[in-house]
Amino acid sequence: MIVYGPVPSWRLGNSLGVDLIEARKGFSKSCTFDCIYCQLGHKGIRKVKPKKMPILRSDIVVLTKRVRETKPDYITFSGQGEPTLNLSLGDAAQKIRKITDVPIAVLTYSSLINLRKVRENLNACDLVIAKIDAGTQSLFKKINRPCKGITITKIIQGLTKIKTKMAVQTLLFSCGRLTNADDKAIKGLIKVYKKINAAKPIRIFLGTAYRPAGSDKVKGVSKDKLKKIALQIRKETGITVVHYEQHDPKSVSRKLGPEELKDNLLELLKRRPCTEKEISTRFSDKDIKGLLSRSVEQKRLKIKDNFYVLR
Ligand code: SF4
Repeated sequence: MIVYGPVPSWRLGNSLGVDLIEARKGFSKSCTFDCIYCQLGHKGIRKVKPKKMPILRSDIVVLTKRVRETKPDYITFSGQGEPTLNLSLGDAAQKIRKITDVPIAVLTYSSLINLRKVRENLNACDLVIAKIDAGTQSLFKKINRPCKGITITKIIQGLTKIKTKMAVQTLLFSCGRLTNADDKAIKGLIKVYKKINAAKPIRIFLGTAYRPAGSDKVKGVSKDKLKKIALQIRKETGITVVHYEQHDPKSVSRKLGPEELKDNLLELLKRRPCTEKEISTRFSDKDIKGLLSRSVEQKRLKIKDNFYVLR
């Protein structure tokens, strides 16, 4: 288990990341999908079989210290892949509850949600944020490129059985002629939102590709279009829709030694490209700008569309 951040999240405020998966050396992720827009790149391990990876006492010690130092708004299971691939997710949530009352969220790609054990693990969190990018199997396959056997129907069925608070998040984008932001795709998504909401009330987080994606062809939708689609969905479904808006990240004042600062920065950027402004609100070190420019010179980081990413 790796603790990273807090990440500045437009949905959750300062969100302290907990990665229960951590990609193997030489790979950028372990996931059941390979989404066309994935910010972690496409050098991943694709797998569908979840397994138990134990939560150590030392992991909880690290987490406790970081919670105390950073006072996050949420503790969020996310990171280099699909958190539900680790069957210890529920155990991790219970252990975290013993050390803090900060709410626990999980970002899931919903791909294993038809498994009872996975749903139990998700129900151990305060908030499940489940990804749905397409309303049809053919678009789902083109966008999320799931492992064999994962279908949108199974995902929807599984989501309707979640008992804890739930939100559905959709990332709207285009990549050449492929898009999930045209009329036809939005109608398909609306059907899915309605179906899930009838069984299990949700709210919708509507995002767009605003950080560097795995391919330069991936483009986000404009601010106006995102707003217009959010209004349409709200009108046709009656569901609360929160859409992405640029915001000023809340500061986390944290003073670290030089080595710890480097490690923390690396763990953050491995999982989430960040702008200089975002990074400088994460660490109170005066030399953070110097560290970033040295890391670029030493070819450990690069800047892409104003975001620092790992090389
Ligand atoms: S689900 Fe997330 S981590 Fe997995 S491929 Fe898609 S964007 Fe990347």
